[in-house]
Amino acid sequence: TETLKISKLHVSVEGKPILRGVNLTIRRGETHALMGPNGSGKSTLGNAIMGHPNYEVTEGTIELNGEDVLAMDASERARAGIFMAFQRPMAIPGVKMADFLRHATTNVRNPRRKEGEELIPMRQFRKELTEKMDQLKMDVEFARRYVNDGFSGGEMKRAEILQMAMLRPKFAILDETDSGLDVDAVKLASQSIAQIGREQAEGEEMGILIITHHDKLLENNVPDFTHVMLGGRIVETGGVELAQELYTEGYDRIRAAYPDAA
Ligand code: ADP
Ligand code: MG
Ligand code: MG
Repeated sequence: TETLKISKLHVSVEGKPILRGVNLTIRRGETHALMGPNGSGKSTLGNAIMGHPNYEVTEGTIELNGEDVLAMDASERARAGIFMAFQRPMAIPGVKMADFLRHATTNVRNPRRKEGEELIPMRQFRKELTEKMDQLKMDVEFARRYVNDGFSGGEMKRAEILQMAMLRPKFAILDETDSGLDVDAVKLASQSIAQIGREQAEGEEMGILIITHHDKLLENNVPDFTHVMLGGRIVETGGVELAQELYTEGYDRIRAAYPDAA
């Protein structure tokens, strides 16, 4: 089974230590929930895994099937099959969703492709895009809009899910993909993520890390493991019952149990 392994990871942002020794192993086919109070470092972990340049790894390792992920730049990580749906996706004015997706999909499907080489044939791409948008109950017009430019919070999240559906990553990190969505949209997102996650690439399902404060995304994506982050560390790991405790009871017990972390 393909494995994403994070060991003793320390990450600083602008010289300030944020992550302080994170250990986390995700295998394809597993769903992990990552919970924790605001500011505990959840998005920082995702950004560090993706290779965001503002997030400096000062100690520890990230490995994909034993390969050093830290030696790869952000685009190499995406080509290696790691994907993140961002909490605050960036707009790319002037670039249409469909063109962006065609480039991104080509690069991930053909990791050795050089800039300027052929893209996935238009007809094949269109067919796939239409199929996916249909599954996700999205209007095809959506693909003609500029990436995240003037999108509502909900549209941005849906655009991220569409991107995930097209890229078929090995590992996906979903950072509060439920925030900004109404109840029906969260339900649809939850179902879509589950459906995409079950689609196999090279005989294996996706490994999923879901960062959330709520229950809805997890309804169709029942976590095999739930991790609680506090003060830049994972202080507890449990099963689905831990997620249920946290979204109903909050973090008081956790803060009291780990006063040094908080
Ligand atoms: P969470 O996602 O758990 O709410 P974050 O990872 O976003 O937490 O943030 C953890 C800490 O790191 C916070 O104190 C936040 O202010 C800081 N931080 C994260 N990203 C940046 C950044 N780009 N610049 C400055 N500080 C940051
Ligand atoms: Mg599974
Ligand atoms: Mg966050």
